[in-house]
Amino acid sequence: MRNHISAEIISVGTELLLGDITNTNTAYLARRLAELGIPLYRQTVVGDNAARLTQALQEAYSRSRLVILTGGLGPTCDDITKETVAAYFSLPMEEDTPTKEAIVSYFHTKGRSFTENNLKQCLVPVGATVFTNSWGTAPGIGIEQDGKYAVLLPGPPHELKLMFEETVLPWLSRLSSDTLYSLNLHLTGIGEGEAEAVLREMMDAGENPTIAPYAGEDDVRIRITARAENEAQAKEMCAAAAEKIRETAVGKYIFASTDTPEAAAAVVERTLLSVFFKKGLTFGAAESCTGGMVCQRITALPGASSVLQGGIVSYANEVKTGVLGVSRDILHTHGAVSEPCAAQMARGAAAQLGCDIAVAVTGIAGPDGGTAEKPVGTVCFAVVCGAALGGKVRTCTEHYRSGLTRERIRRLASGKAMQLAIAAAKEAGDRQV
Ligand code: ATP
Repeated sequence: MRNHISAEIISVGTELLLGDITNTNTAYLARRLAELGIPLYRQTVVGDNAARLTQALQEAYSRSRLVILTGGLGPTCDDITKETVAAYFSLPMEEDTPTKEAIVSYFHTKGRSFTENNLKQCLVPVGATVFTNSWGTAPGIGIEQDGKYAVLLPGPPHELKLMFEETVLPWLSRLSSDTLYSLNLHLTGIGEGEAEAVLREMMDAGENPTIAPYAGEDDVRIRITARAENEAQAKEMCAAAAEKIRETAVGKYIFASTDTPEAAAAVVERTLLSVFFKKGLTFGAAESCTGGMVCQRITALPGASSVLQGGIVSYANEVKTGVLGVSRDILHTHGAVSEPCAAQMARGAAAQLGCDIAVAVTGIAGPDGGTAEKPVGTVCFAVVCGAALGGKVRTCTEHYRSGLTRERIRRLASGKAMQLAIAAAKEAGDRQV
């Protein structure tokens, strides 16, 4: 079963056939299949047409046992991939409750109602594995039947990549006869594209281990994957590649490394606690749009009490002024969602909470409240070090892309606030006790 597996990729989308978009998904998937040691025999592009897709599936499975399909998982009637593949395998569709809950909540937070055609995205072939979509609504699907495997992935490249790295790669690793081991390097303060530009040469040169940057939920990640006869050997290969990466220009942005999905899950929170704890520093937060999420995420971990001093949810402007000491002048001139306001919020939090380092978050999580100048997704941050640490204040603004849910923006913003705190704590000297 594990041997003699070969793969084909079918990209679905009339836009691809017309040349309106470039097929970057296939290039990416081809690299990742190489690392699994699965030979890729053919790449096909078909339009949004069920009959031609069925024909492409029949042809692909006459040659290969694994077919990866991308695109056409959306809610509209020209999104035909899931239904066509299910029909090919003679699998009826059923509603997947977790997917439905996720989609209903997505629409709720966007203030839109759930319509009949959205129900289509909640349907999955009976017995299929569902791959959660962390960035969008369409879930991915894995099907295994009579030695044939199908993987269905959404078209948008960032959705496809995160899903593939986090859930599909482990699912597919059982098709490889070698041992696979992956090491994630977690980066903050650098974008995925920038990291990729620095590592391009290493990425192109390396077949084993392979190196792939992608955007995680709270950070940018570089995944190093090695294929070897045993785990010890694969680990050694990953460690050597990680060492080389640390020596490049991205090295200074690495704040953690993990090798299991569990460890990767709360890596920002855990790193914050360990960096602060080692330096003997305390932390606090002033939160507006995140409404306590920074503190909630930290208190979810044991050991929080030795680092977290407290948090102030300063949602109303009166609380920003009354409790944190934000000046009315700043609110009037720059607005509550501004870097000067964030800076005063952070200063106020440090003073009120008596902590060494405080962060502040103030933004527009939507779905309403955006303006042309400050659209939904605009979030301002500040991090301040107490007087004993030099009193330095740093501010920045993120513009999270449109289409993200309120919950997603809040989650990303809370992760960013923690990243800023980690960077400040690393730079700061140890507290003099
Ligand atoms: P959605 O749920 O967003 O509708 P989908 O799975 O239905 O996703 P498509 O509608 O096929 O995906 O494609 C959505 C977008 O993803 C395209 O407009 C294009 O920007 C991008 N995309 C699709 N396929 C590819 C590809 N092969 N390579 C690069 N980008 C792609």
